[in-house]
Amino acid sequence: MAIQNIGVVGAGTMGNGIAQVCALAGVGVVMVDISTEAVERGLKTVAGSLDRMVKKEKISEADKAAALGRIKGSTAYADLAGTDLVIEAATENEGLKLRILKEIDGIVPATTVIATNTSSISITKLAASVSSPSRFIGMHFFNPVPLMALVELIRGLQTSDETVAAVQAFATAIGKTPIAVKNSPGFVVNRILCPMINEAIFTLQEGLASAADIDEGMKLGCNHPIGPLALADLIGLDTMLAVMEVFYDGFNDPKYRPAPLLKEMVDAGYLGRKTGQGFYQY
Ligand code: NAD
Repeated sequence: MAIQNIGVVGAGTMGNGIAQVCALAGVGVVMVDISTEAVERGLKTVAGSLDRMVKKEKISEADKAAALGRIKGSTAYADLAGTDLVIEAATENEGLKLRILKEIDGIVPATTVIATNTSSISITKLAASVSSPSRFIGMHFFNPVPLMALVELIRGLQTSDETVAAVQAFATAIGKTPIAVKNSPGFVVNRILCPMINEAIFTLQEGLASAADIDEGMKLGCNHPIGPLALADLIGLDTMLAVMEVFYDGFNDPKYRPAPLLKEMVDAGYLGRKTGQGFYQY
């Protein structure tokens, strides 16, 4: 099954990034959001990002124009009707995603693969809400989508081999590197990354070293491009806490307990870069 036209639901941070990457690779994209403003904002972000690529001589003006020409912004789910794959990238809320998936399911033909970019919701559970769960899959892109090479392909209990193969080929065709993952809280990358960051917060809380020294240690000792505490500030401490709580609840295992200092920082409103104060000041 060759995927040539796709739908992206949600024109936010992830949705517009996914639309951009697919359009640059020659794929036709319908990008749907709830309001004209949200769609326009998404399209503007793509145009700005492509402009920067032209300035850096990564693409030509003609490439930019062609990519923009391949993205149709819309507020009507009905425009998803002719697509081979729909990637749901709307707000992280289970009830909302279940409603959106039902709506997509009612519009696309039986051959269309439906994917979700969720970071934390069970793929198996979301798959159970569509009429053909075997053609449902998790496609977890990383932020910023145009720069990050990885896509985790997460199969729910119901996902067919054919669906995995089609999405694997598609991910490769748009220049990403897919890895195959089974459904489980946090999938693979966040499952490893977030407890590591949480442990860094424990070491800070226990006074083992300063924030700067903990980060320096992980950069120079493990060759990480950014220290775990600086990365937590970038991700947002509220998001970090939410992810650790998903692990803690999902596995019922105390090894995933969020560091008390993380909770306290969130209570204080110190959420990292977005509030100007986290483990560092911005
Ligand atoms: P965002 O808030 O930037 O964008 C979400 C968009 O969804 C908004 O534009 C919103 O208007 C739209 N939306 C809400 N309800 C809708 C509906 N009914 N129909 C269509 N659009 C609707 O969020 P984001 O960061 O782009 O996250 C989107 C998804 O990607 C989430 O599931 C998130 O967990 C996942 N994700 C995020 C990141 C990240 O770093 N931001 C990384 C990987 C995965």
